[in-house]
Amino acid sequence: MKVTEMMSHKTSDGRFDAAEAGSRSFANRPVLVFWETTRACPLYCIHCRASAVSQPLLGELTTEEGFRLIDDVTSFGRPYPTIIFTGGDPLKRDDLFELMLYASRLGVGFAVSPAVSELLTKDALKRMRNFGASSVSISLDGATAESHDAIRRKDGTYDRTIDAVKEAVELGLNVQVNTVIMRKNFFDLPRIFHLIKSLGVKTWELFFLVKVGRGTEVEELVPEEYESACNLLYDASCYGLTVRCVEAPFIRRVAGQRLQSDTYWNDDAYLELKSELLRLEGGPTTPSTLRPRGTLDGDGVIFVAYDGTIYPGGLLPVGMGNVRSDSLVRIYGDDNLLRRIRAREIDGPCGVCEFKDICGGSRARAYSYSGDPLSSDPACIYVTART
Ligand code: SF4
Repeated sequence: MKVTEMMSHKTSDGRFDAAEAGSRSFANRPVLVFWETTRACPLYCIHCRASAVSQPLLGELTTEEGFRLIDDVTSFGRPYPTIIFTGGDPLKRDDLFELMLYASRLGVGFAVSPAVSELLTKDALKRMRNFGASSVSISLDGATAESHDAIRRKDGTYDRTIDAVKEAVELGLNVQVNTVIMRKNFFDLPRIFHLIKSLGVKTWELFFLVKVGRGTEVEELVPEEYESACNLLYDASCYGLTVRCVEAPFIRRVAGQRLQSDTYWNDDAYLELKSELLRLEGGPTTPSTLRPRGTLDGDGVIFVAYDGTIYPGGLLPVGMGNVRSDSLVRIYGDDNLLRRIRAREIDGPCGVCEFKDICGGSRARAYSYSGDPLSSDPACIYVTART
């Protein structure tokens, strides 16, 4: 039996749709359209992909251009992709709620990814809920004020983050916590999980560092540590909370391997992380919530930058056109790079890997290392073992 089939059977808890299970391709339409509404942000985080700054940059899409972008999203047809209003801090745009209302009236689902600042008030959260946001994602990179604020470079951000998560949960919003994995917080992961689970968070999304923007200065993990992180996240996905990873599609290989042998990886770092998770949470309570198939940059996902430039993903800055003059639908369907990503025409070990259909490696990390978005992902131990 193939790993995808095994995972479908082993994790069938009713929450996986056909797209996630791999039976539907993302060839004609993405599931997510990320719109970087602005690069303005009150924070100055050490790993910021966008190298966000305090004031808006010249050339941001106007409100009218934003409406046209939302119209363009409807041209994909139903079910419409979900728009993620991201940044920078989308709350730095005065017209954010106008844009949400427009999307809502057209029946386009949306989620919001605000920065934690004085702009993220209970009233703002309430408006997001009332305007129909499907979820709100809030970043937490450390389990303590000391660790989180050092990464966010603003004292008080941790306390404000915990308050915002509590308020959003109380308001009935579907709350997703985002965490960037880097050397600084590697051993903090079980405690972050324990904290957000106790706060009633529904989804934990882990971003595996890609060296773009200010992230070029941040120390990342080595492949063996990424393997330990994936194994820990597999364990964390067995407590009912949805766990998702960004730029670490090889976690789907790990999940498949765990289903074949629960002890295939017993590196010291992993055993330490696992023991801390078991100490905090006790034994697993549910099947894994990891999905057998997910998105890759350009395969289920497309990204529109603050100035309208279209990229395969937010961490893969290869411009393919601009929504001011090009059709997002046409570029998503026809762009040669995107077609090759979806066909898994990848060079090196990823191209011959038996897991490439469910994985394919991070195209963003491949690009950040080699300048070629179709090269192999250097964070995967399968790649390092075969080069
Ligand atoms: S070698 Fe590439 S395709 Fe295979 S599991 Fe690793 S990252 Fe994924």
